Amino acid sequence: MSNICPTCKTFVSINYEKEAKVKEDSLLGALFADVEGNEVRFSTSARITGNCENCGEEMKEATLELDGHFDIDPDKFWSPDSDLNPTKFKIEVDRSERTDSGEGSNGTRMLGVVVSFDLMYDDEYIDTMDVTDEIAASEMSDC
Ligand SMILES: [Zn+2]
Repeated sequence: MSNICPTCKTFVSINYEKEAKVKEDSLLGALFADVEGNEVRFSTSARITGNCENCGEEMKEATLELDGHFDIDPDKFWSPDSDLNPTKFKIEVDRSERTDSGEGSNGTRMLGVVVSFDLMYDDEYIDTMDVTDEIAASEMSDC
C-alpha cells in the first residue's frame, strides 16, 4: 500500500512516531466529576500519527481512548479533621509509550499506546495503573 504525500507529491513510506500525545489537560477536568463512591474514574485520549518519511508531514492519524478507574477505600482518606475531598484527587501521566506489533502474518500492523496513570491525593502518591489501546495501521484516518 502506497501513499502520496501532499507536500512531496510523490509516493512515500509512512513513519509512525514514537510518542503519543496524551491530553493531560482534559484529564483533570474529567477527574473531578468522577470521584464516585469507591472509585476514581478517569478518561482521556491519546493522538498518534503517521508521518511522511521525507518531510514529516502528518498523513495518518488516530485518536485512542484511554479510560479506567482506581478503587479507593474512602476510609483511608477520611480523618476527624478533614472529610474526603474529591478535589484533592489528581491523575498524572507518569509515562506514555507507543506500541507497535510490526507486520503480522496476516498483514495487519497494530499501533497503540500504553500509558501509566498515577493517582495522587493531596500531592501524595496512591496508586498506578497502565491503560492501553491500539488500532490497525490500515484503519487510521487520512489527515
Ligand atoms: Zn512529504
